[in-house]
Amino acid sequence: LNIIADLHTHTIACTHAYSTITENCACAYENGMKAIAMTDHAPSMPDAPHIWHFNNLHILPRKIKGVTVLRGIEADILPGKEALDVDGELLSTLDWVVASIHSPLFIPSDSNAVTNAYLRICENRYVDVIGHPTTLKFRFDMVKCIKRFKEYGKMIELNESSISAGRSTAEICRELLLLCKKYEVPVVVNTDAHFCELVGRFDLCREILDSVSFPEELVFNSEWDKVRQHIINKHGDIGI
Ligand SMILES: [Zn+2]
Ligand SMILES: [Zn+2]
Repeated sequence: LNIIADLHTHTIACTHAYSTITENCACAYENGMKAIAMTDHAPSMPDAPHIWHFNNLHILPRKIKGVTVLRGIEADILPGKEALDVDGELLSTLDWVVASIHSPLFIPSDSNAVTNAYLRICENRYVDVIGHPTTLKFRFDMVKCIKRFKEYGKMIELNESSISAGRSTAEICRELLLLCKKYEVPVVVNTDAHFCELVGRFDLCREILDSVSFPEELVFNSEWDKVRQHIINKHGDIGI
């Protein structure tokens, strides 16, 4: 399986991550990545950068250490009507939007709360991919949501860090992948790396994808053209 871009990575802009964008790019290049998305946490997370971090991303060069840098965010899905903690005005300036459910911002009453939050987030036009929807703490009605993701063109993430940190299990990932395969929903394979050496390394994800014979054509970041076209169609011609 060819993976050419790591579309969920953190930098020292988040205090629980330990590398700079330059270090991330250098390792990404070594690990065969053509592009990465820099997706630090939206300001409502306790460790997140100030909103100015996102407003200023435009000063970064398009390529660092030979790797294309997408200016992104990991926004937070909220349980209430608001749905997301970042507004469209900011999201419209970015190239890539991961939307994830996190503690402590999301305290679910039951799995219905998670299901409803995922159903609602589909209506946000800026969201590209649902981050780590395999978290053990936040189970939901997978069939119902995957059908909705398909309908609204939202992708699903397979997240290396979630598995390695034990926040999700191979079993849940397999269950999700089999549904993505059945309903033909594209999957984005990401590391969610918080340290440069982990960028572009997907060993656990590869194993799980193999175990369900997941089709390469449904892996969104297996081809640069596919990634590039999606970004241009959805976020505009950003010169990549
Ligand atoms: Zn996350
Ligand atoms: Zn993350």
